Amino acid sequence: MKVCKFGGTSMASGEQIRKVCSIIASDPERRVVVVSAPGKRFDSDTKVTDLLISCAEKYLVNVDYKPVLDEIIGRFGEIAADLGLGRQIVTDIENNLYTRISLPYDSPEKFMDRMKAAGEDNAARLTACYLRSQGINAQYLNPKDAGLFLSDEYGNARVLPQSFKNLAKIKNMEGIIIFPGFFGYSLSGEVVTFPRGGSDITGSILAAALEVDVYENFTDVDSVFVASPKIVENPKPISELTYREMRELAYAGFSVLHEETLEPVYQRGIPVNIRNTNNPSSPGTMITPARKTNGCPVAGVAGDKGFCSINIHKYMMNREIGFGRKVLQILEEEFVPFEHMPSGIDDISIILRRKYLDDDRKSRIMERIAKELRVDSVSIEYDLALVMVVGEGMNRTVGIMSRITKALAQSGINIRMVNQGSSEVSIMFGISEADVEKAIKCIYEEFFCLA
Ligand code: ASP
Repeated sequence: MKVCKFGGTSMASGEQIRKVCSIIASDPERRVVVVSAPGKRFDSDTKVTDLLISCAEKYLVNVDYKPVLDEIIGRFGEIAADLGLGRQIVTDIENNLYTRISLPYDSPEKFMDRMKAAGEDNAARLTACYLRSQGINAQYLNPKDAGLFLSDEYGNARVLPQSFKNLAKIKNMEGIIIFPGFFGYSLSGEVVTFPRGGSDITGSILAAALEVDVYENFTDVDSVFVASPKIVENPKPISELTYREMRELAYAGFSVLHEETLEPVYQRGIPVNIRNTNNPSSPGTMITPARKTNGCPVAGVAGDKGFCSINIHKYMMNREIGFGRKVLQILEEEFVPFEHMPSGIDDISIILRRKYLDDDRKSRIMERIAKELRVDSVSIEYDLALVMVVGEGMNRTVGIMSRITKALAQSGINIRMVNQGSSEVSIMFGISEADVEKAIKCIYEEFFCLA
């Protein structure tokens, strides 16, 4: 049995949904299908989820939301017409959207999540309807009926453990199940969404709950590449990656899979196959618990911008018991997650994602560190990017660091921070944001172009 997930571009038009359905029909093991909301048909297009967000925002501030709502209904209407589905399904979708808007709500976040979920929910109804019109036994399954329960963190939900047992019962259901991605329900019965791009997470949860043989994640690229095709021309494709490698690359900006996707399948060792809806004969990339290394120690290189570093200096810091805990406690109390904490004898730097540090929080944190920890200096440095070089083959291989630093030096790139975990599966470099593309290119050339 396989769980398949189809992303936004695979659901963007009638033509794309026809491809999705022929992929489903071509393999009887594809029994559970997770769909995203219709995404972009072309570069300047708008995703249905973004239209829904804009509609909800307008509604919340009493601005005319009707034109956006009509655009959303129009998108579904066009798809339905293209698939030859008749008016009824479009009327159902229209009613579904109006019901979401008109039902009472007690907080803007709840209303927003209820609206955001409409893209996936109606895409799933429409896909099931099309499959049935083609004589295929398919049914839409609502996440509440299936028992997908999430924490009540609106827009940022996490799966609750009891969901896995509930979802396992889908195994006994007949036909093909079309399951909307991106949302579930809180225990009090409210719609709650995962972070953006979260349909990947739904697919992974289902794959884990059903203990399937493989989780197929269909997108619009043939495979994962060793570096972003936006930065490197024709980068090499990757046929196999481990969970750890994919996780590290996703963390540093590989956007093929949502960063949180792998957690449920990782626990159960279920492989993930990234595949292309537009080229289903391509085998794609397999993400597995372990792999044979193919001679190249590095599996991929990725970079992400938007970090900052709080640099703390205190003479004799190394002798002060509990110093690190006190710094982290201040961050905890301000609800700011930290990413990394490289340190020297008398220095600690805390690397954070800048988006978590608004001006108020920043001032409070800096003041508290200065006062409560009586440090000699504390400053904040913006313009920090992280470049990660990832590969299981780097473990216990001599000379990787020297090859990377030499390549960076030859490109005139200053390294502000280096971090390597004990697993040796990745090395991370802190550099200026302006240098990221250059760094990725030169590391790519070092490991993938010189045979
Ligand atoms: N439709 C949602 C988004 O655009 C979730 C997804 O596509 O995975 O973020």
